[in-house]
Amino acid sequence: MIYPMKEIIQIREISKNYDGITAVDNLTLSIPEGTIYGILGPNGAGKTTTLRITLNIIEPDSGEVLFRNKKVNLETLNRVGYLPEERGLYPKETAIEVLIYLALLKGMKKIEARKRAMELLEKFGLRDRADAKIEELSKGMQQKLQFISVLIHDPEILILDEPFSGLDPINAELLRETIMGEKAKGKTIIFSTHILEQAEKMCDYVALISRGRKVVDGKLSEIKASYGKRTVKIEFDGNGEALREIPHKSLRLYERFAEIETDLEINEILRRLLDRVKIIKIERTEPTLNQVYFNLVGGEGENSHNN
Ligand code: ATP
Repeated sequence: MIYPMKEIIQIREISKNYDGITAVDNLTLSIPEGTIYGILGPNGAGKTTTLRITLNIIEPDSGEVLFRNKKVNLETLNRVGYLPEERGLYPKETAIEVLIYLALLKGMKKIEARKRAMELLEKFGLRDRADAKIEELSKGMQQKLQFISVLIHDPEILILDEPFSGLDPINAELLRETIMGEKAKGKTIIFSTHILEQAEKMCDYVALISRGRKVVDGKLSEIKASYGKRTVKIEFDGNGEALREIPHKSLRLYERFAEIETDLEINEILRRLLDRVKIIKIERTEPTLNQVYFNLVGGEGENSHNN
């Protein structure tokens, strides 16, 4: 896929095998600068491996990653903030000590690091816990702290592996706003998730991957538009089994909600359902990312909705 925008990262034909398991299979992605880019796929799809290769933490068996057309080096990595999937900070140290330590590793001066750490602790509602030991903080607080450590040196690129996992809705919203704020400042944000609804709300570009391979990538709006408005979303009350009888190309049926890909007119759908379920809302729309994913990879993506 060719993007009109300038690419900040190019992932070129990377592959990685682990003892016969292909984690990443000839994957090529272009990340346009200043965008939010979602790497999406179910558990085990190869998202973490892709991010680790991008960050030069592991070597690919083949292929390469370029940052602004150059091989990654220490200097480029200092301009990246990385939130790994496995979280963990030094439990016996205090929040402020850890933040300053990590900032120094990224080349910041101590005074500057302390100032920035205090500003971010304030922003994330943790200022009064600056001197608390990591082990004394709740899991969510530790996660926020880890996110602060990603931002502390004001990186140009944020690479976040499953950043929303484990956050309550308020903190998830705070994280979402922070990510959007970083984008507004011109930063590039790459994040992985298996929660497609989350990506749908935020991403400009996405890559859907399955079993280490790219299924589709590009601008989210274009991917969705390419499916046309064949999807009908129905919110209902009652036994949804009646919906199975509507002729369809695909159907995602939940307890009180369904997405149907069908050519039937809304009037006709209503006529067939009226005396069987109570229709609360019905509309013809572009498909959700979930539906795009299911259309492309079928049942392989089942856990992308449930987790
Ligand atoms: P999740 O959403 O569950 O974190 P993921 O999309 O990030 O999944 P990866 O962690 O990249 O997927 O894993 C891709 C495949 O590679 C999996 O089958 C996994 O078991 C395998 N794998 C990853 N890391 C290793 C490793 N260090 N040793 C052996 N196999 C590995």
